[in-house]
Amino acid sequence: MLIVMKFGGTSVGTAERIAQAAELTARSAAEGHRVVVVTSALSGVTNQLIAAAESAAHGDWRPEVRGQIFERHRAVVDALLGGHPETQRAVLDAINQRLDRFEKLCFGLSLVHELTPRLLDAISGTGEMLAAPVLAGAIAVRELKSEAIEATGLIVTNDRFGSAEPLPVETRELARSRLFPLIELGVIPVVTGFIGGTIDGVLTTLGRGGSDYSASIIGAALDADEVWIWTDVDGVMTANPTEVPEARTLRDISYSEASEMAYYGAKVLHHKTILPAFRQRIPVRILNSFDPAQQGTRISVEGRPSSRGVKAVTSIRNVSLITISGRGMQGIPGLAAKTFAAVAQERANILMISQASSENNICFVVNTSEVTRVVRALRSALELDLMLGHVEDITADDSIAVVAAVGDRMKGTPGIAGKVFGALGEANVNVIAISQGSSELNISLIVAASEAACAVRAIHQAFELEKPAQP
Ligand code: ADP
Ligand code: ASP
Ligand code: MG
Repeated sequence: MLIVMKFGGTSVGTAERIAQAAELTARSAAEGHRVVVVTSALSGVTNQLIAAAESAAHGDWRPEVRGQIFERHRAVVDALLGGHPETQRAVLDAINQRLDRFEKLCFGLSLVHELTPRLLDAISGTGEMLAAPVLAGAIAVRELKSEAIEATGLIVTNDRFGSAEPLPVETRELARSRLFPLIELGVIPVVTGFIGGTIDGVLTTLGRGGSDYSASIIGAALDADEVWIWTDVDGVMTANPTEVPEARTLRDISYSEASEMAYYGAKVLHHKTILPAFRQRIPVRILNSFDPAQQGTRISVEGRPSSRGVKAVTSIRNVSLITISGRGMQGIPGLAAKTFAAVAQERANILMISQASSENNICFVVNTSEVTRVVRALRSALELDLMLGHVEDITADDSIAVVAAVGDRMKGTPGIAGKVFGALGEANVNVIAISQGSSELNISLIVAASEAACAVRAIHQAFELEKPAQP
């Protein structure tokens, strides 16, 4: 089989974890599989890089940050490659080169005081470039051939910095021509996750948590047999285990369930990961690098038919509810169109929409990081309607969260919404707004952020998701 294996931040967070990642890779290679590895940055490094860029843009560049990042990587390299001085030196050189560039960019930012999305990508994508040579080195000292590859020359994207989209045709051509010759020579490529490059070679990032997406993009480009995502939990679970301790691992889920869960906040998968794999029907496995004996979750077309309507409950934080209201909105044609055109122009992502049947308001949810921009754009697009009094107010509420119940079988199973609302009523959680996708794969609700954890637990309990489903 050709397997694309992705290791997340905690799976490469320390020398011990990187050794384990190298071991898991070597094990699959020994079983006769051809393996392409995709790596995240060491845990916490991307946050550190972004914080450094932001403070540099405020004129506060502290050169010691470079030293801190270097020391962390050096300690790991020394522990892993101490007995192989040549490899050790080459890896440290690669790290230093990348950090030189990082330092120069931050210094420049501290002079110009302007952090563009393009510059932020150039800086935040550095973490993966530091990790790839280390993991490749750790694989190489296991008597295997391995090479670190930067995805700027592999995943071709548009220039939407911060959440770039791959160009599948160009990526396919480039990825195949770069990676297949290596694979044929028995080399295990270790590709940087999270980043890509425009046609002109300018570094872009795929969005936070985007290394999962990198793995499925590369899997699709290479027509891989499977994509394996190694992380720090046993698989995709019925809820976030940090929120619901009794959450259970789901053995088999469908592409649509996985993508709905990821879209509605299950951080275990970047929300765009499923699409490239789905298009080519490549099975995706979520596995625990801390406990590889566990079976994990398999994501495929069919999933596993189960008697259960709701399979999982998710939540999204750091979102805001925008409400456009006015008694005069009734019957004014085109208001919704104008509203959503304005949001689209801002390239903001709408996570959920809900309109009361009275047509006295339109409400929808966007990421809090985008809300100021969106409200400003709406005020300008609806200026005339505000002046004429059709629209009375445009407000934003940052203290909300979206909770979603997800499952393929919800479609056509009566009584699910009633059970959800019953559970929330009993738990004293106030539902601010509701929406059900026409696909009926989920019911999503807006609740106060302070009540989200309680809402998730109440729904989880009402559907007894902690118990295994009957086949
Ligand atoms: P990685 O660094 O490997 O990419 P992430 O931190 O991005 O890992 O994702 C794994 C984390 O996702 C888990 O540790 C868990 O806290 C969180 N998570 C949220 N929802 C779920 C869910 N439904 N199933 C499993 N994990 C979840
Ligand atoms: N390192 C990147 C992040 O922290 C990408 C990833 O880990 O998937 O967002
Ligand atoms: Mg992740």
